[in-house]
Amino acid sequence: MYLPDPVLACIDALEAAGYPAYVVGGCVRDACLGLTPHDYDMCTAALPEQTESVFAGLPLVLSGKKHGTVGVVSGGQVVEITTFRTEGSYRDNRHPEWVEFVPDIEQDLARRDFTVNAMAWSPYRGFADPFGGREDLEHNLLRAVGDPVRRFREDSLRILRGIRFAARFGMTVDTETEQAMFSQRHLMDNLARERVFSELCSILPRITSADLLRFAPVLTQVIPELAPLVGRDQKNRHHIHDLYAHTALVVEHCPPELSLRWAALLHDIGKIPCQTMGPDGQAHYYGHAAKSAEMADDILHRLKAPTALRQQAVILIEKHMTLPLPEKKYLRRHLGKLGWETMDALLTLQEADTLATGTAHAAELALFAQVRSLLAEIRRENACLTLRDLALNGHDLTALGYRGREIGTALNHLLNLVLEEQCENTREALTAALKEKSP
Ligand code: ATP
Ligand code: MG
Repeated sequence: MYLPDPVLACIDALEAAGYPAYVVGGCVRDACLGLTPHDYDMCTAALPEQTESVFAGLPLVLSGKKHGTVGVVSGGQVVEITTFRTEGSYRDNRHPEWVEFVPDIEQDLARRDFTVNAMAWSPYRGFADPFGGREDLEHNLLRAVGDPVRRFREDSLRILRGIRFAARFGMTVDTETEQAMFSQRHLMDNLARERVFSELCSILPRITSADLLRFAPVLTQVIPELAPLVGRDQKNRHHIHDLYAHTALVVEHCPPELSLRWAALLHDIGKIPCQTMGPDGQAHYYGHAAKSAEMADDILHRLKAPTALRQQAVILIEKHMTLPLPEKKYLRRHLGKLGWETMDALLTLQEADTLATGTAHAAELALFAQVRSLLAEIRRENACLTLRDLALNGHDLTALGYRGREIGTALNHLLNLVLEEQCENTREALTAALKEKSP
């Protein structure tokens, strides 16, 4: 296994002082899969004070020392070195009641969540793999270390972590482990909302529709508003999929951008309270975009999502039913209100939504290509979309004798003329237009 020099240097220093040291966890798993690890965690028999004295000459990060972690700044990066430890039970499904330092690696590996994450490697000592992580990796199998029910009771976040790893690596979940994920899912109600949100943010960008379906029992536990969507016939000729399967496809069709994927996941939750039946036996969902937006706002508040992400997802959901017109005038106005980024994300969501009905005609999908090419034209023209883009500004109007509110009114009038293509966005044309308006 290849190790970067700073990591290797830390292992060498600890071994030279007589302390066994390994890289452990995610980096060993990733290396076995032929992937490049994004970071390297280390573990050692040295107690935190002993690690400190081995690296006495180097800058150290000691904020995690109580739990056994010393950060060593080596070669411009922080290498986290944790003393072998076991953990007590998780009283509140969150924090272990105690940690205890132990002398050997096997006990440390036993506290880890899944066999594929419970492997360590050292250039001095080779592999430590007491739970068959490598064999499970070969079989593409995610399996809890020890009794899965007990492990999920200790920390129910492991259930969501399980989804993350199974989805990321396309793994099958061992039957007993999967049963425990489902039977113990209610324990996730006790988790800190931030932990749930952060785990969901790791899961969402990469999950496929098949995995959203496979893990529906767990996902609907942490977002109960999704539960009534599962298996729900939309009773509408434009939809061949049930509401949850449709939602899952919309998520999959969206690129891995967080606010977009959150919007996709929650875009139709308001359909449940908004359903009405027409005389023709077709269901309608009038007002569901606004309702979904309101519910999504609540959910993302509850999960303590960052404000910017919440607001962006809510805007996308709120507007997802308003398809754009393939007209430059219309698009310029919308760009002025929404900005390029939101406009682009909205179009992506709407296209994904259309595709995921399962009944979209080529003509419906052509709209998106058409709108995109008009947007590209507008971009090339470097168009005037907001007051800021106007060739005249407040100072110019003051110089022309405008005062107070007149300034804003006149600028908005000019912007309208430009958006309606009735006036060019040049100083001369705009000044002339002003004179015309107030002779
Ligand atoms: P990633 O590539 O996503 O960072 P990772 O396996 O490194 O994956 P981390 O969350 O960084 O995951 O955790 C590092 C290691 O610590 C894991 O591989 C696992 O051995 C252990 N671990 C982390 N969280 C838990 C937990 N809640 N319960 C048990 N072991 C855990
Ligand atoms: Mg990691």
